[in-house]
Parts: sequence; C-alpha cells; structure tokens
Amino acid sequence: MEFYNLKEPEERVGFAQATLRGLGSGRGLYHPVSIPAVEPAALMAANRFDRYLAILEPLMAPDYSAAQLGQMVREAFTFEPRVVPVGDAYALELFHGPTLAFKDFGARWMARCLSAIRGDKPVTILTATSGDTGAAVAHAFKDIAGIRVVVLYPKGRISRPQEQLFCTLGGNIQTIAVRGTFDDCQTLVKAAFDDAELVSALGLNSANSINVSRLAAQVLYYWDLAAATAEALGSAGGGLVVSVPSGNFGDLTAGLIAKAMGAPIARFIAATNVNDTVPRYVATGRWEPAATVATSSNAMDVSQPSNWPRTERILLDYGWTLDAVSVDEAATVASIRAMDAYGYTGEPHGAVAYEALRRSLRPGETGAFLCTAHPAKFASSVEAALGRTLAVPPAIAESLDKPNLSVDMDVDDEALRRFLLSR
Ligand SMILES: *Cc1c(COP(=O)(O)O)cnc(C)c1O
Repeated sequence: MEFYNLKEPEERVGFAQATLRGLGSGRGLYHPVSIPAVEPAALMAANRFDRYLAILEPLMAPDYSAAQLGQMVREAFTFEPRVVPVGDAYALELFHGPTLAFKDFGARWMARCLSAIRGDKPVTILTATSGDTGAAVAHAFKDIAGIRVVVLYPKGRISRPQEQLFCTLGGNIQTIAVRGTFDDCQTLVKAAFDDAELVSALGLNSANSINVSRLAAQVLYYWDLAAATAEALGSAGGGLVVSVPSGNFGDLTAGLIAKAMGAPIARFIAATNVNDTVPRYVATGRWEPAATVATSSNAMDVSQPSNWPRTERILLDYGWTLDAVSVDEAATVASIRAMDAYGYTGEPHGAVAYEALRRSLRPGETGAFLCTAHPAKFASSVEAALGRTLAVPPAIAESLDKPNLSVDMDVDDEALRRFLLSR
C-alpha cells in the first residue's frame, strides 16, 4: 500500500519508508493513498492472530511478507484487548500490556516494523515524554537488536510509579531526567532532529504518535471490538457506536481506518476533556486552538492535535460526520462514580469517553467506549472520586523496588549531543 504526504501529495512512499521517516517533507503526515477494503464476515469469524494478519497485510505489503507479519504479530501482541459490559455499554480495555496503557499496542508494533527494515543500519529512538508514551516506547524496544532508545522527561514532574516503570530497564534503554519542563525536553529533542549530522550518524527516529506503524496497530482492536459485540448488535439493530477518548487523535483516526476497511461500526464519538479544539471546530467550523489546560485525563491535554489532518481527510473522503463531545472535570468525576455504580472501576480517560457516550447515544444503538489506561496509573484521581484505595498491580509493584538508572541533565543542546555521541 502506498502513502502520500498530506502537505505535498506528489510525495509517495511505501509503508517501510513512511515508518522510517515518520514525517514527510514540510512536516506533512503520511496517509494511505486509498484504504484497502476487506471482507468483514470472514475477519470477524477468524481467530485473533489471523484477523490481525488479514488487516495488516493489505496495509503493509509489499514491504513486509505475510510470513514476516505472522511472526511479528505473535511477538508484538502478547496481551489482549478485553471487552467488558458496563451497564448497557461495553468497555474496550486496552491496558493489559506491559505499561498498562493502550500505547503499548502501537509502540510494540512499531518496534517490530523498524527492526525488520533497518538492515544493518543502527537506529536511535529519541523521544520526550510526560509519562505514558516514553514508558510504552522504552518497554517496546527493550532488547530489540541494533536499536537504542533515549527518553527525556522532566525531572521531578512525573509520578514515581510512572518514572520507575521505564527508568529501571537498562540495556539498550537510556533515560535522561532533564532539569526543566516537558516543553524543555521537547525543545532539546527538536534541536537534535535539526542537527543533520547527528540525525544521519545515529539514524535518529522519533517514534511519536504520527508514525504510520503505530496507527496500523491501533486499527486492530476496533475489529476485536466489532467481533466481540456482533451478537449483542444483531438483536439491537441500531448499530455500534464507539466513543474514543482523544488527545492527538491517533486512536480515533485508526478507528476511522477500521471503518473504512469495512468494520461494522456505525459512527464514532470524539470525546475530549476541556481541551476542546475539535468539538468547537465540529460545532462552528472554526479552528481556534486555545491555551492547553491541565486536567485529570492528562494524556489528552492537547489543544493542537497532531493527527487531525488525517482524521479530517478520511471524514471528507468518505463523507462521514463526526460527533464530538467535551467533558469537564466535574462530569469526569461523576462519570467515574457512574461506572462504579455498575461495579466497574474506570479512570479519567475512559470516564471522559463513557460520559460522551452517554450524552450522545440514541435509542437502539449499541454503545462502546475505549478504556485507554489502567485505573492504577491514575490512582489519585480515581481514589479521590471513589473515596477508597486501589490495589497496586504487579507491573507497577515490581518496578518500584528496582534502581532508577536515569542520568540528570541540564536544558543544554550540547550536553545532549555529547551524550548521544558518547556510545
Ligand atoms: C495517548 C492517550 C490518549 C489519547 O490518544 P490519542 O491517540 O492521542 O488521541 C488517551 N488515553 C491515554 C491513557 C493515552 O495515553
């Protein structure tokens, strides 16, 4: 399948090049020239790995062979999405991977995609994180031959459990605690990518959420959801509606790609917190990003969503409309309590999606919402909403005992450059 640069449509590359480059020239996003259609009935009946293969093959051929993909799928997806009823709705739990957040899907797939195509060239993944992404990327690339990972994060500004989860790995994973803010970390990373000599010497790659390989992996679980709810849907008749907690809109874009491929999903709801650039745009037609506001669903504290050009391209190409709902902090707390009343413990990101679903669902429709993080990752918000303490899951408990291997660094381009060239 070919991808074109949304900013410079003449620029076309295959899946492998799009994965290696991340962005096209002019910082344009790569987007499928045409989204391949598959046969839904056969896919829904297939076992999980066969289903994944049938979805990924048309997206990734001819750069990857079916045999190669079959092995990659088994190595990457060692954990499963789960579908759990919450009242009349369904939660699609995506947090059963090693770092307890849905970013494990994309990061683990990207690691295998890169590893298969790097040849004998070394690759250095350089990324800045305020929490989830860095952890997912570090775990995904741990022990992948020929790939070194360097993660920058703001010292003292992420929670200890979050830090322990990715700063204790060692081996090919290096973590740097920057004496500054997340923005300082991003500025340092940008400066490194502006240094052409450094980029080519180290094979620098950013592994960020606009990478097509991460997007491809996120298409998969929408099909799992469709397969798991097919029976319930048969009797209700109004179609499956999926509410997606959205920040950079990669997850929602992947859902739209699943639908374009043929997944039986009637419509999507873009659920945001008070960082509501998209809900306002859908209502008024005006793109007016405001200053980013800090919320309890902090992975969605984004006011200029980087994947939106892709989302909008699909909506225009297929003539679909998008429902978009913004949920404030009080409603997020109420939503955590509403789920709890059904015996389900959710966290702020899933709670935003659940509340948006409740506001938007029409009679006869079957509703589902994505739960993107384990409640224990946002324990303080959940505990405050529910007035009780949560158990610490084993993945977090184990890492709390390990030594933190991070090195400290000032906000200094030269210091980062020396570090990167030092080994
Ligand atoms: C990244 C993230 C999101 C938002 O996903 P996007 O693809 O950026 O829209 C939602 N929830 C959690 C827990 C995340 O880490």
